[in-house]
Amino acid sequence: MGDYQPETIASPTPAATGNQLKDISTNDSGVLYHQLRQKPLNIVGGRGSYLITDDGLEILRRHLRDKRVHDAIMEQLQKIPYAYSLYFTNNAAENLSRILVDSTGGKMSRAFIVSSGTEAVEASVKMAMQYFRELPTPQPQRVKFISRTQSYHGNTLGSLAVGHHIARRAIYESILTKNVHHVSQCYPYRGMKDGESTESYVARLAQELEDKFQSLGPDTVCAFVAETMSGATLGCVPALPGYLKAMKEVCERHGALLILDEVMSGMGRTGTLHAWEQEGVVPDLQTIAKGLGAGYAPIAGLLVNKHVVDTLTRGTGAFAHSQTYQGHPVSCAAAYRVQQIIQEDNLLPNVREMGEYLGCLLHEKLGDNPHVGDIRGRGLFWALEFVQNKSTKESYPPSKKIAWTLHATGLKPEYAISLMPGNGGADGVNGDHICLAPPYNTTKAEIELIVDRASKVIQEVLG
Ligand code: PMP
Repeated sequence: MGDYQPETIASPTPAATGNQLKDISTNDSGVLYHQLRQKPLNIVGGRGSYLITDDGLEILRRHLRDKRVHDAIMEQLQKIPYAYSLYFTNNAAENLSRILVDSTGGKMSRAFIVSSGTEAVEASVKMAMQYFRELPTPQPQRVKFISRTQSYHGNTLGSLAVGHHIARRAIYESILTKNVHHVSQCYPYRGMKDGESTESYVARLAQELEDKFQSLGPDTVCAFVAETMSGATLGCVPALPGYLKAMKEVCERHGALLILDEVMSGMGRTGTLHAWEQEGVVPDLQTIAKGLGAGYAPIAGLLVNKHVVDTLTRGTGAFAHSQTYQGHPVSCAAAYRVQQIIQEDNLLPNVREMGEYLGCLLHEKLGDNPHVGDIRGRGLFWALEFVQNKSTKESYPPSKKIAWTLHATGLKPEYAISLMPGNGGADGVNGDHICLAPPYNTTKAEIELIVDRASKVIQEVLG
């Protein structure tokens, strides 16, 4: 997307001192930071793919700026900034929903627009339950969900329960539903046995899901929930060929729904607008978020398969779920323009081409690094997993916080890169990783800069 800098943004000071994450004894702003004792860097502006701090540091970070989106937001603000969706609709929500549904080739027939990925997942869980209650022959006993270990699907109690992020769940275990059960991720680096073929690994995972259905009682399972490509928690793991097809077959055999969470992997990040297009499966419910509005406005969505829509339409005729900012006109106008630009500027081929280049360069520069155990990804979504010992794949203990140390080191002025850290939800099984997710309009030069800076950060932290 084009580079656009509104006049109100402060110019960076010439000499950046790299004001690092600072421990603070008093907080004079009133913001409750994620780390209560640490003030993060203050972002005051942007330039291309860079975020500019109040200190003048320019940090390489996925970031989009485009005058066309800015104009669309301003235009919508002038028309109507808000209308309560329980009583009204608005053109921005109508337009956005239309192109989203069309982008699935009509496979999904409605879009339910909310403000965050968490809300989209929460809505998917509720809609799945409502669906079974409103079938011509209702199946209200379907109250169980199956999802995968080391997964993250959001922060509210329902979505947190569906996920398996141990660190984020810990305090709340007692109030999370016990009706969510977990099976293994498709995670070849650690899950595949020595000498095992892709086909037999996939068959083993499908059997694990089948066994889980059997142990729970197949007709009590409402849905299987999975990311089409595992994102930040496991670290950019694409599904193996045939994996999602095999999982969907198990769901269909037992009449359960397939919910694909594409909050992170959807809307172009993996090279196609919907990540499931590459897997030969169509979900019953699909969540989307990050690539939808490209960060311009809080927005996410739930795309609903026609048969689910038809069932609810014939049933009570309402989705028992409504939110104040549902279908927000300004967010929808921003996302609509972002989606048009992805098409107008032909960005998806660039995601695929630059993604291949990023993957090749990572293998070339870091493939032999003794601490880089695995390099994996698809499209413009790649991860490096770190190990203490490459042959045994021994990971670093979570207490060492390797991924977060890499992130903090990346923010030093000599590197100025924001690396996305993760560690499987601190389960102590899989290793720390960092994810790289450049903007869809990234260039070869920018990819080279990213890999160069990331390599230097790794060298400083891990030697
Ligand atoms: N699902 C997935 C796969 C995610 O990656 C995330 C956020 N990282 C969420 C759900 C929650 O989205 P949000 O942070 O927008 O609530």
